[in-house]
Amino acid sequence: MGSTRTIRLGGIPIGGGNPISVQTMTKTDTRDVDATVGQLVRIAGAGCDIVRVAVPDEEAAAALPAILAEAGLPVVADIHFDYRLALASLKAGVHGLRINPGNIGSEDRIREVVAAAKDANVPIRIGVNAGSLEKDLLERMGATPAAMVESAARHIGILERLGFSAIKVSLKASDVKRTVAACRLFAERFDYPQHIGITEAGTAGIGLVKSEIGIGALLLSGIGDTIRVSMTGDPVDEVNAGRRILRALDLLPDVPRFISCPTCGRLAFDIAKYVPVIEAEVEKLGAPITVAVMGCAVNGPGEAREADLALCGGPGYAAIYRRGELVAKVREAELVDRFLEIARDLVRSLGERED
Ligand code: SF4
Repeated sequence: MGSTRTIRLGGIPIGGGNPISVQTMTKTDTRDVDATVGQLVRIAGAGCDIVRVAVPDEEAAAALPAILAEAGLPVVADIHFDYRLALASLKAGVHGLRINPGNIGSEDRIREVVAAAKDANVPIRIGVNAGSLEKDLLERMGATPAAMVESAARHIGILERLGFSAIKVSLKASDVKRTVAACRLFAERFDYPQHIGITEAGTAGIGLVKSEIGIGALLLSGIGDTIRVSMTGDPVDEVNAGRRILRALDLLPDVPRFISCPTCGRLAFDIAKYVPVIEAEVEKLGAPITVAVMGCAVNGPGEAREADLALCGGPGYAAIYRRGELVAKVREAELVDRFLEIARDLVRSLGERED
């Protein structure tokens, strides 16, 4: 798939090969400023890049200035139908709008919203959901990927005719296959950045697996510029899941890659109990190094060759390798300290080389 265009949302570039941003949505009553700001602070603290806030009525729109003042990350107003709420949100200073132009109503109203978005330099996300497609498309094509893309094309056409191109599109269904097919089909026809996710995926059990597979499959085929994991529950869990997906695909910069063997009957040294502490400490180093912890000599030395740092269990000792070279053999009591000392040393030397 070719590269998408780049749009900017509150200073964050989306598309065009820029880092993939993670989004979530607040689940508080937007009219309740304290509760919403409290949740936003937790969301930002979890490493979220962009947050969406539902704006269902005028009171919610009136709460936006106070929310935006404390948000700490770009905020997108989620509007359904009511153009006045879109205008009020833009006036309040939101960084993005999620509204489908085809649902706004008369041409005059669409024009007004688009002009205000243009003035404010705010992008618009068109959100197509398989569950709420236009009636004529449903009758003619059913809730298919092709119908979803057709729906997106209509909304895009409206914005393009008004000379508006800061567009981002999402095509979501509650099942993985349709979502992935729709996003792929869209990418064949358009180069607008895509916000991807599985909508109404469910809970942290199977819902999370659906999101991981759907988002992962798309990202692997080069589709997706910003992601949202949708789950019933705490939005912080959605952010963490989103970041884990990016991490599993090596799409997060400046984080370690951690490899550890599952252990088995060949285990020469009980490394399993040290894996959590080593992983947590290596994480704190915040450097893009690959660390492997292996239980025996069957796969250990092989992984050690590919890792920046590896710990490999042996009879009564553990061997530490730095870039494939054996640098220490340590006893259990000193294992963690020594390993971390060598890890810090490695990270320091990487930093010095960059200076
Ligand atoms: Fe088993 Fe050794 Fe492989 Fe770990 S590295 S799973 S202990 S064979």
